[in-house]
Amino acid sequence: MDPKGHQPVNQGHNPPPGFYVPPQPPPAYETSQPNYQYPQQPHLVQHVITTPNVGPNPSSILCPSCRQHVVTRMDYETSTKTHLMAGLLCAFVCWPCAWIPYVMDSCKNANHYCPNCGCFIGTYKS
Ligand SMILES: [Zn+2]
Repeated sequence: MDPKGHQPVNQGHNPPPGFYVPPQPPPAYETSQPNYQYPQQPHLVQHVITTPNVGPNPSSILCPSCRQHVVTRMDYETSTKTHLMAGLLCAFVCWPCAWIPYVMDSCKNANHYCPNCGCFIGTYKS
């Protein structure tokens, strides 16, 4: 029994050198990733609308929101003048007439809205 003849025979177990491709790690991403820091600038658009020339009557304007040529929808709201007129009527005329300014559109502010998209157009202050 010659121990030299018992060399380990491992042929067929290991691939020949140069053939084995070690698993490569994924390519290292550089630290220059996209910067997602959005600027913290207030983006107020709907509150800063250049008020078109609106009057006490429905106006034909170009809606700043939906870019449609529309005739504004009117919505009256009581204003300071409304309460002032009511106070004057109550004090100097007769108090039962104090409700008149609240039903007179001419004593109220006229809000114009877009009938298409419903956005606020502007206010006509009486
Ligand atoms: Zn609109």
